[in-house]
Amino acid sequence: MSSRYAPSSNGAERNGQAGIEDLREKYWQQEQSAYDRLMSLAEKPHHLTSVFSKELLEAAFSPETEPVLVCMDERIRLPQDSRPIGIAGGGIFLKEGLMTNLVHALQRNGVRHITSHDECGACSLYCDFLRQERGRISDPDHEGTLFAEELAGEVSGRAERIHRSSMSGHPNFHHARCMTIDNTGFFNPSVLGKEYPSSLFLSAPYYPTAKRLALEAQIGVNVIAMGEHGMGWERFTDDQPMAIAIVNDPFRPSYNTQVLNHILHNLSQTRRALQFINIHPSRRMVAPLGRIL
Ligand SMILES: [Zn+2]
Repeated sequence: MSSRYAPSSNGAERNGQAGIEDLREKYWQQEQSAYDRLMSLAEKPHHLTSVFSKELLEAAFSPETEPVLVCMDERIRLPQDSRPIGIAGGGIFLKEGLMTNLVHALQRNGVRHITSHDECGACSLYCDFLRQERGRISDPDHEGTLFAEELAGEVSGRAERIHRSSMSGHPNFHHARCMTIDNTGFFNPSVLGKEYPSSLFLSAPYYPTAKRLALEAQIGVNVIAMGEHGMGWERFTDDQPMAIAIVNDPFRPSYNTQVLNHILHNLSQTRRALQFINIHPSRRMVAPLGRIL
């Protein structure tokens, strides 16, 4: 796995709030060019091939890649022969009552490669839930590993730990200025390289309900990107809003509308700077081959 950004090795830079703020600014600027490219689609959503090359786009929607269940964390970068199936904490919140739905979705689509990762904020939130609701003290790394192994067992697959050394970004904060909600289940933004911004990544077809997807999208925006674990809400303005890219499925347009409405309804409650961007790949780009979803 390749990292777009090497974590800073400068000890002085990493010490103290001022140093962290400088680093946030550095990552903010590093994302600018890819962010601008994506934002330009807000004005012309059907002009995908004028923003990204056609060859790369076709490769970015290839069904010939291995689906890998990952956390929505933007610092996870998969190799180009894999595609991310993104859910917060690799689905750890679905463990409570929706595990069967998740297992069936993974089985239907042949997803057998299950991952957990270092520094998982979703696993930390899950541990908060365990403490508050059940009085159980647990460790996020332990819970993440345990869940990935349990899920891998259910789908007769394998569990893998993604370590910090193969993640991009900084260990102490998220640098995403973008969230991608992939309605196709086949989009791999890694193929687009630096042309596509680092992005929180949610795979809509794998969520048991649109309501659950909307909830996790809300956590991604409010708690991760705009919260203290991310860039902070002050940076996102009407001029530089958070970009929410909805990758529409040309084979199931009605599903997209339903999901989008839930998400818009939930996120609009936040009254924060958001820009929704509809990405419309053509049917030719998103090959029907292997589409089970
Ligand atoms: Zn995570």
